[in-house]
Amino acid sequence: MSTAAALTSNVEAFQVVSNVSPHSEAEREAALADLRFGVQFTDHMARVTWTADEGWHNRRVEAYGPLSLDPAAAVLHYGQEVFEGLKAFRWADGSVWTFRAEANAARLARSAWRLALPELPAEDFIGAIDALVRADSAWVPGVEESSLYLRPFMYAHEAFLGVRPARHVEFLVIASPVGSYFASGVKPVSIWIEKDYHRSGPGGTGDAKCGGNYAASLMPQMAAYAKGYEQVLYLDARHGTLLEELGGMNVFAVMADGTVVTPVINGNILEGITRSAIIALLGERDVKVVERDLPLIEVRAGLEAGTISEVFACGTAAVVTPIGRFGSDEFELTVGSGEPGPVTLQIRKELMDIQYGRAEDTHGWMRRVV
Ligand SMILES: *Cc1c(COP(=O)(O)O)cnc(C)c1O
Repeated sequence: MSTAAALTSNVEAFQVVSNVSPHSEAEREAALADLRFGVQFTDHMARVTWTADEGWHNRRVEAYGPLSLDPAAAVLHYGQEVFEGLKAFRWADGSVWTFRAEANAARLARSAWRLALPELPAEDFIGAIDALVRADSAWVPGVEESSLYLRPFMYAHEAFLGVRPARHVEFLVIASPVGSYFASGVKPVSIWIEKDYHRSGPGGTGDAKCGGNYAASLMPQMAAYAKGYEQVLYLDARHGTLLEELGGMNVFAVMADGTVVTPVINGNILEGITRSAIIALLGERDVKVVERDLPLIEVRAGLEAGTISEVFACGTAAVVTPIGRFGSDEFELTVGSGEPGPVTLQIRKELMDIQYGRAEDTHGWMRRVV
């Protein structure tokens, strides 16, 4: 993976047209004092247009606001859309940094390829983020565990009902100040193991970050809520026997002997940037990390026998989340004591210390934006 230093950003190519009626300072302060996930948005958005004739053009930062979309816009009918999620962190000295943005740029390109969308050059992805975060730097919160969540996305804008890739595509980045994902600190979540439905299947779009996968996960998610569980764990669609991931987070199991296991990337799993950072950090601590098939039968037996001591989920939004309880049609199992385990808490702290500049970034993961 290339390091941040090697990254180029074409931030200068973005024309900034400032919002003529931004939030007042008082409104912004009120928003920053009441941080929830994905509710408040900043004053601007970054945007780049693609057409089959002109390619990527019209790089700009403009007032945040509703999009004008023709009712025949292809995205509304055929779901041709991909997205990303990353954060900008305010360090104690006031500077603002992104975490592994180049990995998000590369993943967006892979997702776009799968959805027959055009590839956005990494320098445009980074440039859009730089331009937006600089325009809205006052929106990057500074309190503990807060950040500016960035949501890049690309969609088929062309008004055409024929089934083919759109010839007019828009790429945007919007930003939302967020607090700690869980209001009450690190709280273990309960997980329903879903046997009847899948978020993706062999040859499908499971390894692309696209809205369609999330649409497929909403109904099982609601059914799990109704049964008293917070999140859904999906099994492989071919056999229904292997753990894959949650609707929007990857999963790790910690064995009693200290080995850490995570499901191998198999074409259905979305390869998380948090996942790969955790694998790297654990490896450097001489923890044995194994990427392999993780059968449900093994997890069930391990939880029953105590040979699996911790299970956690990870992703940009919630960083690292302990799993406290699993349920399925056949069993109900507590993970360890049900409380967050030491490996989970340690890796969470290690990652966040790098993100907030409290620990040295030996990987070149952090990139200064402001
Ligand atoms: C985004 C996402 C993840 C986590 O990826 P990160 O890069 O760590 O944020 C995991 N699974 C799915 C399905 C996702 O969409």
